[in-house]
Amino acid sequence: MNGSWTATPLRRGDYLAHQKRGGRSALGVLPIHYPKPLLTAFNLLAQEIWGPPGPPRGGASGRIQTYVCAVVRNAMAFLVSEQAAGLDALLFPHTCDSIQGLATQITDLGGWNRPSFVFQPPRLAIRDSARRFLDQELRSLAGELAAWTGQALTEARLAWALDLHGEIDALRLCLLASRARLPWSDPELYALLRRGEWLWPEDHLLELRAACQALAETPVQTGLPILVTGYVPEPPGILAALQEAGAFVAADDYAAVGRRVPRARSAGPVDPWARLAERQLAHPPCPTQGGPQGERMEHLLRLASESGARGVLVHLQTFCEPESFDVPAILRACSGRGLPVLVLGG
Ligand code: SF4
Repeated sequence: MNGSWTATPLRRGDYLAHQKRGGRSALGVLPIHYPKPLLTAFNLLAQEIWGPPGPPRGGASGRIQTYVCAVVRNAMAFLVSEQAAGLDALLFPHTCDSIQGLATQITDLGGWNRPSFVFQPPRLAIRDSARRFLDQELRSLAGELAAWTGQALTEARLAWALDLHGEIDALRLCLLASRARLPWSDPELYALLRRGEWLWPEDHLLELRAACQALAETPVQTGLPILVTGYVPEPPGILAALQEAGAFVAADDYAAVGRRVPRARSAGPVDPWARLAERQLAHPPCPTQGGPQGERMEHLLRLASESGARGVLVHLQTFCEPESFDVPAILRACSGRGLPVLVLGG
């Protein structure tokens, strides 16, 4: 790896234990979209749980039907295991029926007896009613977290957390949009980006700043640029396989990565609650949010065009309905631009 990024020298479990010794509580968070600055404002360490997909990670995955995605089945296996002992509570964004099912099954079948919270993002197009609904959801979640932590949330603290995440978002967007100028392999870049799923945000920010220092003035990637859309880059070997095939991820629409980086807005609100809501609404189109499909296709084609992508990889999770629903539209949209598409199940 060229550049000055050096990973925080702790593995995830060690890092969590270290953070907890420092007095921070840990909130396990299921995919995908949630108001992370709110958790940061409450001094809560988010620990995202993305399954992981793949073969069963324990017998408890069998407590959920085999036609449910491996993300949820393996999340169940993880949450009932000793590995989850460091989590003080759980947050379930209302992403899909499977995650909502897990939210109830983890207590009914998994023996989870610590607090759990639900966050319901608005669906469909962004309208005034969606904004009002989101505002109520955010304040409701904040009230629950305040009651659980015993902390009062000040607007100044929320504004601080929003500023912090604003810088993180900007750096992540910069690294993704400038991918061709970063002299790192995809596995190296994604290792960094995915550490944001469990690092305290200020630690992640330091790593991102250092990574941006490595950006060259002109493109340095020589492989075939491709656009990847999918759920989560797992197994990680998929990135190495792409590299071996002579390609690199020039544009990212993974739900776990690029689809959670808010698009820049020229001028935003000043009120921290309004800022929190705007950040939530500024994510690129996501099929789990039920937005207009055409808007998502335009976004994907724009990503392909701006990055110079010459092909598209659709990386699906088996049994993931929200992602699968959009595949025919992606095939139509890309073929209309002469972009070859590979649909890969996982
Ligand atoms: S969105 Fe898809 S992959 Fe994610 S939990 Fe739901 S069904 Fe599984």
